[in-house]
Amino acid sequence: GQCITHCPVGALRERDDTSMLFQALEDEDKIVVAQIAPAVRAAWAEQLGLSREEAPVEKIVTAFRRMGIDYVFDTTFSADLTIMEEGSEFVKRLQDGDLNEYPMFTSCCPGWVRFIKTQYPDMVGRLSTAKSPQQMFGAVMKSYFAKKLQVDPERIFTLSIMPCLAKKAEREMELFYEEYAGHDIDCVLTTRELDRMLRAEHLNPRYLEPGEFDSPFEVGTGAGVIFGATGGVMEAALRSAYYLVTGENPDADAFREIRGVKREGWTEAEFDVAGTVIHIAVVSGLGNTRKLMEAIRNKEVKYEFVEVMACPGGCAGGGGQPIHDGFELAEERGSSLYFLDQNTEVRFSHDNPDIQSLYKEFFEQPLSHRAHQLLHTEHEV
Ligand code: SF4
Repeated sequence: GQCITHCPVGALRERDDTSMLFQALEDEDKIVVAQIAPAVRAAWAEQLGLSREEAPVEKIVTAFRRMGIDYVFDTTFSADLTIMEEGSEFVKRLQDGDLNEYPMFTSCCPGWVRFIKTQYPDMVGRLSTAKSPQQMFGAVMKSYFAKKLQVDPERIFTLSIMPCLAKKAEREMELFYEEYAGHDIDCVLTTRELDRMLRAEHLNPRYLEPGEFDSPFEVGTGAGVIFGATGGVMEAALRSAYYLVTGENPDADAFREIRGVKREGWTEAEFDVAGTVIHIAVVSGLGNTRKLMEAIRNKEVKYEFVEVMACPGGCAGGGGQPIHDGFELAEERGSSLYFLDQNTEVRFSHDNPDIQSLYKEFFEQPLSHRAHQLLHTEHEV
């Protein structure tokens, strides 16, 4: 596990799941559908000797097409879907008075979910029931997308490229939908596995042209991109929660004060949403998280909404990212995600036209019966 990230030769020993992907690519019956997580784009080229400008995520799209992967989508899209569900759940819990004593916690980081289950099992009911973007992506592929392609969900093989080792375990979550019983996600590769695979396949990104993500999920918003940085999930959720409560968009940068990596302790802030003051906290790293949990439990602090990421700096500094001895790049990678957000046309998850049509055609509205069935999970200790 965790020691791998500190061990200079660990990369040679860590688990490698690329063979699962190659098997699926050889199976003519399988339709291979890939997603690439937001934080991967800020780091994948570091070990391939390219600058970030020379390595847009769209070059991975081209590499995947050459390898025979059938569809390539951006997890940023399903991050927007997570925000729709989680933001709506937050507003509902707030209005129901469910957050008067303890906050709702984000649940998209499996390292954190494992931590709360083992260390604070009595608090597990405080986790958002919304699945993570990785899992939601798989659920949509094996339901809505399979229907669109008019194929059996069994034929869809879902691949994720993640900055994270814990996402390999999160993949075990089960999915039941109509006749289908299996998993949202079939194979998870880390950024490091991606880099090794590209080398092994002789796909040098320097010589690849950027490709285009497939439709119908090609648009991801700036809100989805910042999921990869600490504070980003909270910021994206607040942008949409504000809209849900007031019917109007806030300034896209209204919640900027929660950005940035905090090495010690946690960040807290309060925001006025249509006359209701919301108290929030953002924390990353499990040492800091334990301190925050103790303070919450001892009623030294009180929040309605808390974002937790197990890795210091969030997924940008995830355990599956390239390793640089003595360097902590989470902060720099995080800023590059905020830069992308600033330059994205759509910066609110609820304004994503692909998300709007997915609800119109399939889910009806956030927290609908079908959304509960496919996009939420009950966390059990
Ligand atoms: Fe994975 Fe770390 Fe991101 Fe959590 S913070 S989802 S453990 S990379």
